[in-house]
Amino acid sequence: MRIGVDLGGTKIEAIALAPDGRELARRRVATPQHEGYEAIVAAVAGLARGLEEELGATGTVGVGTPGAVSSATGLLKNSNTVCLNARPIVDDLSRALDREVRVANDADCFALSEAVDGAGAGAPTVFGVIAGTGVGGGLVVEGRLVRGPNAVAGEWGHSPLPWPRDDERPGPPCYCGRHGCVETWLAGPSLEADHARVTGEPVPPPELAARAAAGDAAAAATLDRHADRFARGLATVIHVVDPYVVALGGGVSNLPGLPERVAARLPRYVFGSRLFEGGASGGEVRTRVVRAVHGDSGGVRGAAWLWPADPAR
Ligand SMILES: [Zn+2]
Repeated sequence: MRIGVDLGGTKIEAIALAPDGRELARRRVATPQHEGYEAIVAAVAGLARGLEEELGATGTVGVGTPGAVSSATGLLKNSNTVCLNARPIVDDLSRALDREVRVANDADCFALSEAVDGAGAGAPTVFGVIAGTGVGGGLVVEGRLVRGPNAVAGEWGHSPLPWPRDDERPGPPCYCGRHGCVETWLAGPSLEADHARVTGEPVPPPELAARAAAGDAAAAATLDRHADRFARGLATVIHVVDPYVVALGGGVSNLPGLPERVAARLPRYVFGSRLFEGGASGGEVRTRVVRAVHGDSGGVRGAAWLWPADPAR
C-alpha cells in the first residue's frame, strides 16, 4: 500500500493506493497554519496513521507540497506556507512516522501521477504542466521525476515568454522579481488581466470561455493570444527535452479546447516544423498535448507514487 499526502496552504489531503493504483481511502483536514510547524507535521503523520488504522495495513509515505527540499541543506524552501520554510521537514516527518518519508514539489507530484497512470501512461517522457493561479511543471523520464541540483526542473513558468512581440515587452511584473515570465501571461489571473488590458474589462477565464462560445470576438481573441503564448512557452520546453506527452492540469486547463488550440499552434514555433510546411515530410509536431486524467487528485496520487513499484528505484 502507498500513502500520498498533499500538504497545501489550506488543507492537507491523504490518499491510500493499492499496488495497482486503485484508491482505497482518502482523508483530509484543514492545515493548522496558525498553530505552526509542529502542528502541521503532526497533522500529516496523523492522517497517514489514520489511513493505516482504517485499512489495517502499513504503507510507504510520500508528501507533495509547494516549494522544494534544498539538496544543499535538506531544508524546505520556496513554500507559500511560510512556517514550513527552513525546516527539516523530511527528517521530522520520517521521525514522526518511524520510516523514511519522501517529499517532493506538488507540481512534480502532479507530473509523476500523470506519467504513471494518467494522460502520459506508457510514454517515455512526460512534461506535466500546472496552470492555475500560477504556472509550474515537472518532468518525468522513464517513470522517474527529474530532480536537479537547484530543485527547479520543470519550472518553465519563470522562464521569459519566448519570441515576445513589441507590445509584450517588457511584460507584466512577476512576484519572482522579473518581468514577462511565462506565468505572467498564462496563469488564470494573467489571462483575466490580458483581456482587461485590451478591452478594459477584467473577465475570469470560465466567463471568457462562455463568451467566446457565444460568439464574442474579443473573448475569442483573448483565448487565441493565450493559446499562442502557451505554444511559444511549450516550444522552448520541447526544444530542450522533447517530451512525448504534455499533460495540462490546474484550473486554466479546464478551458474548453485549450489542448487542441495549443497543439494546433505548436508547428509555428517548434524548430524544423515550419521549414517543411506544406511539404510531404513535415509541418507537424508529434508531441501529444492532452488534459490531465486525474484532475485535482494528481498531486496526492503522485505523492503516493514517490515510492515506485520497482524497489530498486
Ligand atoms: Zn517569474
